[in-house]
Amino acid sequence: MPGARTFVIVGASLAGGTAAATLRQEGFDGRLVMIGDEPSLPYERPGLSKDYLRGTISRDQLLVRPAEWWEAHGVEARLGARAQSLDPRERTVTLADGQRIAFDRALVATGVRNRAFDVPGADLAGIFQLRTVGDADAIHRAAAGAARAVVVGMGFIGAEVAASLHAMGLEVTVVELFETALYRVLGPRLGRVLEEIHRDHGVDLVFRDTVERFEGSAAAERVVTRGGRAIDADLVVVGVGTQPNAEILHAEAIAANGGIRTGPSLETPFPGVFAAGDVASHDHPVFGTVRVEHFDNAIKMGEHAARAMLGATDTFDDPHWFWSDQWEHQIQMAGVATTGRMIVRGSLEARSFAAFFLDERGILRACVSVDWK
Ligand code: FAD
Repeated sequence: MPGARTFVIVGASLAGGTAAATLRQEGFDGRLVMIGDEPSLPYERPGLSKDYLRGTISRDQLLVRPAEWWEAHGVEARLGARAQSLDPRERTVTLADGQRIAFDRALVATGVRNRAFDVPGADLAGIFQLRTVGDADAIHRAAAGAARAVVVGMGFIGAEVAASLHAMGLEVTVVELFETALYRVLGPRLGRVLEEIHRDHGVDLVFRDTVERFEGSAAAERVVTRGGRAIDADLVVVGVGTQPNAEILHAEAIAANGGIRTGPSLETPFPGVFAAGDVASHDHPVFGTVRVEHFDNAIKMGEHAARAMLGATDTFDDPHWFWSDQWEHQIQMAGVATTGRMIVRGSLEARSFAAFFLDERGILRACVSVDWK
């Protein structure tokens, strides 16, 4: 006999899918509904800019759980269904088609979307953003017939896409507004190490410049920058940041960073409604208010939120860890900080190091490593 309670998860991806799996693992036997606006079962995104983009792994290898797992575990996956709003007082989720689903507890795991890049010519064919498996397929197909690519933005996704497109045989130019690669996450000194790795592999890098317009008759042919450069391109990938998909909750649940505000156990200001993954802004006991857009965090938050939905009250205090693969190098970071005193073990020049960031009291806040074991 299934339990009488209904739990609804909005967002069928890493955090939402992990939460559903954890709920079943922890013995939740009620109705479990997972609503996702993408047509696919939950899948992992890191491969989209790396091996999946390059065509060396299959779609099935991205899945969070094998396709048959969800039905076998009694998870009602409503795919291709958009949740329009969540009313925390009525305890209902309304779908775009007007259908309403009542819940006892809900989890919002709606992630982020790519920030629009609104310059003249941005609607030309051949200009892509990357978030979904469909986007990766479209870029892969376009790359097959292209010789020159421009990547706009050199955050992690831009840097990984640049490396992948280059590995696929394209000439790649990156245009980045900041003074170096990965500036906002790693800061200038470490960003420069990454910049040099890309340059040594033959990627053309343009810093402190941005796109003024894209030119072309039907498809993009050229990227014109504010600095006056005209760069020929058959394919453009734009990665200029994200914004949280937080709109399904009332404004009082939205944090200053745009995410959904949660307390220590990942419950939002509305009792019985939780948030996890990229969309969740939480008060970390060490780092203060943070919203983290990384894989491991989405898994750990999904697990934590599931237990909180079942009544656990402990604090989510994971130190936050992520990795990025670029060329033959692996970058890892734990903690939150890129300013303060930096102590390096190993060598930045040799591209094998661990850099520790200490605050003004000498307390360790973060560590960034490149190929450091
Ligand atoms: P998401 O994966 O964004 O999923 C949210 C889901 O909710 C989406 O399917 C969305 O369409 C859906 N949704 C949104 N609104 C609604 C609605 N109203 N109704 C129904 N459904 C809705 N992290 C790393 O640590 N290392 C990496 O190397 C790395 N590489 C990455 C490469 C790429 C190309 C991308 C895009 C991300 C990468 N990440 C990486 C980040 C990592 O994938 C994310 O942190 C993770 O996917 C977050 O999971 P999530 O479930 O919170 O959100």
